[in-house]
Amino acid sequence: MKKLVRCLALGVALQAWSTRAQLPIIPDWSYDQANNVGFFDPSASPVGGFGSIGELRRTVFTAAANYVSSLFTQAYVTEVVRVKAAFTNLGTGTVGSGGTIGYTNNFGSTNPKYKANVDYTTTLANHVAGRELFSVNTLAVNFNTNAAITFNYSTNDSAPLGSGQESLFTTVVHELIHGMGFVNYINAANGSFDGFPTAYDTFIVEDNGNPVSYAGLTDAQRLVAITNNNLFWNGPLGVAGNNGVRPKLSAPAPYSASSSIAHLDTGIFDPLGLLLLPRDSSLVQAQVALVALERGMLYDMGFTPARPQVLSIASSSGNHIVTATGILNAKYRLRFTGTLTNGVNATNWTALASTVRSGWNTVSLTNTPTGSAGFYAVEIVP
Ligand SMILES: [Zn+2]
Repeated sequence: MKKLVRCLALGVALQAWSTRAQLPIIPDWSYDQANNVGFFDPSASPVGGFGSIGELRRTVFTAAANYVSSLFTQAYVTEVVRVKAAFTNLGTGTVGSGGTIGYTNNFGSTNPKYKANVDYTTTLANHVAGRELFSVNTLAVNFNTNAAITFNYSTNDSAPLGSGQESLFTTVVHELIHGMGFVNYINAANGSFDGFPTAYDTFIVEDNGNPVSYAGLTDAQRLVAITNNNLFWNGPLGVAGNNGVRPKLSAPAPYSASSSIAHLDTGIFDPLGLLLLPRDSSLVQAQVALVALERGMLYDMGFTPARPQVLSIASSSGNHIVTATGILNAKYRLRFTGTLTNGVNATNWTALASTVRSGWNTVSLTNTPTGSAGFYAVEIVP
């Protein structure tokens, strides 16, 4: 659940080539359509060029869904994500809500990210299974019609929000990500999992590295841990995307049903304006992108990256250490493009790498002066 934000620039451009299809996101707004509300509200659009506010909202939703779609590659050729989307009254304190329609477990898969005895959202289950387990809507997102909420409909990140406005674009992205898999399943009354932990839960640790799921903690210990302001993400890609540091998760006291655990920590990430925070950052703009650590968390859980992508850059002894993901059973090379410290423009391809076996890899680009401006690209070579 949430309000929103905007992302930080990493100082390098991220670039990707995709050799497989993006994961389509298909909205089902039949409720609004039948009732002439929300996405089919015939009232005049506050923005020119649209026949109604409903049409404007559908346009913004589609742009946000297309952005999310661009982050992921299909696991099988007919894979789509079906989303029930509607406007409804959520009260005065919430901008949007998003969640999975059901969980499943122990469905069996050869995907190396698959784990037994773990609850997968039905969207993630389809993906990790590599076959269609569910051919219906697998998540639901809602946006608030309450008069307390004023949406901004821009999809242009150069247009800051007005005072008191909430970006529909960023809210759509945030709620879609929840419904796809950014969810936890810990019972806040007794610390149990009410069954199995979610895929998300399996990556949560305390600051000492002790896992919160399964054997790591008893239910009583877990009950304490979720309000101890001491939970972190330990998946390798989320950590890589945060420059080698475990991203801190939201675990305030008292527990908050709408914001604890399945959000990033406000104290650390609010100043950076990240998207997967419980509520508005101080850095609000109309459009955001998920930063590397957020995308890394989704890839840790099993979603396949639009490939390949650079997650982080670090400098060491004049070389740049590049962590990239989405390199799966393929050869790759890296390129630096930019202005060197001597003012010379340079384009520098590394040697072609040998075949790699896993979905991500850490590679080094040498002979590039530390601190030079430019960007990195990863190229997959067939
Ligand atoms: Zn949220």
